[in-house]
Amino acid sequence: CSKEGASTVKVLKVGTDAGFAPFEFQDEKSKEYVGFDMDLIKALGKQMGYEVQIQNMNFDGLIPGLEVNSIDAVASGMTITEARKQKVNFTKPYYQAGLTIVVKNDNNAIKNFKDLEGKKIAVQIGTTGAAEAKKIKDAQVREFNNAPEAFMELKAGGVDAVVNDKPVNEYYIAQSGSKDAKTVGEPLQAEEYGIAVAKKNTELAGKLDKALDELKKNGEYEKIYVKWFGK
Ligand code: GLN
Repeated sequence: CSKEGASTVKVLKVGTDAGFAPFEFQDEKSKEYVGFDMDLIKALGKQMGYEVQIQNMNFDGLIPGLEVNSIDAVASGMTITEARKQKVNFTKPYYQAGLTIVVKNDNNAIKNFKDLEGKKIAVQIGTTGAAEAKKIKDAQVREFNNAPEAFMELKAGGVDAVVNDKPVNEYYIAQSGSKDAKTVGEPLQAEEYGIAVAKKNTELAGKLDKALDELKKNGEYEKIYVKWFGK
């Protein structure tokens, strides 16, 4: 705000659904929200002269949160889609993702999206994975509040598969020691993550884009990427 004194720190309220490792999750010890998106948004905030405050909320509450101004931005592995662009503004893409399938390790019947016809599928409410699973013929889609709950349902045997973002699926499998689950299938479609801001807040979107360019130039983006994904 222009009327504030120079010493006042500007605050950027950022909404996230912190059940989406390695992009956003709660560190068990420190209780802090950590992950690729968390490091990126903090670095972007710093570049823009803002202090970032994270608010953990359900994924399907993030866009409504922008609409009622309870948060300024969303950093939550959110795919840039035409439908969402009707409601919010996105920055430039900052990460390339796509949907894959997770099944139990001993499941040899499901190898691709076609094999999901007539199957029980767990997804997270309000996600691109949920939207795509609902298009599969005769599939019974069960929606959960977050990705960990969907994975738990697979482990418990309540569903045949989980449809979710590739990097999150791979991280889950690596963390669980690859013993109970595996990913199958080529990514269904290319998806790109963007940071979302309110529709009318084109100024903030512009500032975030500029800061993202700067972090790509000065090597900071690369550092954060390597920290979470290696190479
Ligand atoms: N990328 C997916 C989407 O935007 C899932 C995001 C998430 O669950 N955090 O719908």
